[in-house]
Amino acid sequence: MRQLAAALLALSLAGPPLVLGRSTDGRPIVAVRAGDRKGPRVLVFGCIHGTECAGIAIARALERIHAHIDLWIVPDLDPDGLALGRRQNGRGVDLNANWSSQWRGGGKRWDTYYPGPRPFSERETRIARNLILRLRPRATIWFHQHMNLVWAWGGSSRAGRIYARAAGMRFYHHRWLHGTATNWQNHHLPGSAAFTVELPAGRLTARQVRRHVQAVLSLAGSLGRSHSEAH
Ligand SMILES: [Zn+2]
Repeated sequence: MRQLAAALLALSLAGPPLVLGRSTDGRPIVAVRAGDRKGPRVLVFGCIHGTECAGIAIARALERIHAHIDLWIVPDLDPDGLALGRRQNGRGVDLNANWSSQWRGGGKRWDTYYPGPRPFSERETRIARNLILRLRPRATIWFHQHMNLVWAWGGSSRAGRIYARAAGMRFYHHRWLHGTATNWQNHHLPGSAAFTVELPAGRLTARQVRRHVQAVLSLAGSLGRSHSEAH
């Protein structure tokens, strides 16, 4: 972890992707840094469920932005699920049910919401947790599909509403589900925002991708205005 921390700090803007670690089946999980390191820090996960990866197109577009935002992008946290055409990771675990906050056990591998044998049992969730703890982003966006809404609760509601308005999406004000990444972040990192963007089914058009890029920038702009920037 110390080695990774040093590599993260050295990662240059718009430089080559940094390998954070490897998935269950050995695929690299990478982060890309873009924008302006003096801007508010925002973290984006393009895909956490292998069958809900339309957000990867937004992640790729975000890699090319020039704006006042210290943007960290993980295009794909579930490369095994994407390769297999499965929602879960390579071990049949739902990576968005494997976090420790209100974790609830039960079920078996490849069940739709199988949470794993214990919290953080999966390499992918540990990689994401370690990155979040290292970066302490002001806001984190998790892309999913196919509900076509922005889902936020509690201290993240304001950020979620700003994003929803900018993206032209419905805002869904609802508590976090058991063992999800947003549940964990909202309970462990108070004062920061983490919310879910459920994209519509299918692929995004170029126009939709641009709109989401603008929504990320609108969110970052609101963060810059609302607080002094802490690094
Ligand atoms: Zn999902």
